[in-house]
Amino acid sequence: MKPQNKFQKAVVEARKSLPPVTNTQIEWGYKNAMEIIGHRTEKGIITCTDCGHSWQGAGYLVSILTDCNCPNCNTKLKVETTKKRKFYNRYYMTIITAHKGYQVLRSVMLLYSAKVGEVAKYDYSEVMQRWIAPNGNHCTFARLRQTMGNCYVDSWIFHTPLELRSESSNNKFCLNVYDQIYTGEIYPRQKLIPELKRTGIKKHLFTHKPMNVYKALLKDCRMETLLKTGQTDLFQSLLTDTSRKLDDYWASIRICIRNGYQIKDASLWFDYIHYLRMFGKDLHNAKYVCPSNLKKEHDRYMTKKAKADAEKEMQKLREKEEGFRQAKAKFFGLMFTDGLIHVRVLESIEEILLEGKLMHHCVGSYHSKTDSLILSAYINDKKLETIEISLSKLKVIQSRGVCNSNTEYHDQILQLVENNIPLIQKRLAA
Ligand SMILES: [Zn+2]
Repeated sequence: MKPQNKFQKAVVEARKSLPPVTNTQIEWGYKNAMEIIGHRTEKGIITCTDCGHSWQGAGYLVSILTDCNCPNCNTKLKVETTKKRKFYNRYYMTIITAHKGYQVLRSVMLLYSAKVGEVAKYDYSEVMQRWIAPNGNHCTFARLRQTMGNCYVDSWIFHTPLELRSESSNNKFCLNVYDQIYTGEIYPRQKLIPELKRTGIKKHLFTHKPMNVYKALLKDCRMETLLKTGQTDLFQSLLTDTSRKLDDYWASIRICIRNGYQIKDASLWFDYIHYLRMFGKDLHNAKYVCPSNLKKEHDRYMTKKAKADAEKEMQKLREKEEGFRQAKAKFFGLMFTDGLIHVRVLESIEEILLEGKLMHHCVGSYHSKTDSLILSAYINDKKLETIEISLSKLKVIQSRGVCNSNTEYHDQILQLVENNIPLIQKRLAA
């Protein structure tokens, strides 16, 4: 891709004088960023796949429980008991450096192929560079990747050049693939631009990728403040959960900093502040934002919120009940009988819900149907069927017993209701 703007043009220019990765760096990578296999046979013969030396090792448990160094070349080995004779592995290492005022992250892929009994072959390729400006903007140079018929994002095509690449997430993985590349081991000698040095970030990256940490620090000086005031859990949490906006919490965080209040569990504290806001508490008041027992206060507000939710739910139900009463009140008290079976109108949402529950059918949701009247048929205390009548058509839509089955009284119930339709009609006209 051709540089699209001034910044990219400047980086392309600066890159021309970036020295190649050094042998010292690569040698360090081979020693520290890779796992070299010690091939172990069933009989316990271990072969160093680095230098090819073999020896009789200790028992199986010893081989997996203790570190193993080759007695010939002293390489640290990862012992594998396997019939496999050939090994091919790929590792990453990252070199953190500065060049012409930019922070540069160089990703090197280290390749290792070995055959039991032969000297291992090592190779490497610098596959990606990320250039970060002091304002936090960045661009990425990388080799091309094999993307067809491949489920890895990093099948680098080593002979292609490191070129400026577009970073749209408009691909089959729907993500910025360059952000997905492993950091691997980080080369210990690092160079930071002054803007980053100033933040005091040093080498500790809080288990995040250097790219994310640096960009966050350069883009927002409040992140630097968090670091410098020791609010590292907040710092880390904001890097992890990017949906949280520092703006929403900054006023309260400043109160914490001013009061020397260390936030040890950031996600709990964020939730807690969210509750405080919900209940209209003063987010600038240390009394609220710096609780001595965060867990206890958090849980107290959580309970309070649950109660408020339940109360709201009840209120909604009461309003619904009132609406139902207004719509159907003219039918209340309506009942008729043929001497054996009694039928009466259900007079509240609560009653209809209960009917649905006792009869195991779905009449419970019918209270909102404006054209329906719900009645219950019973003998003495025993419920038989639930009847739904269409008010506009003055006809029975359905009559159902327990679990939607009909009772032996089904036809008799239908007859009884049909006979008394005029009563409903009379109430409807009133
Ligand atoms: Zn060896």
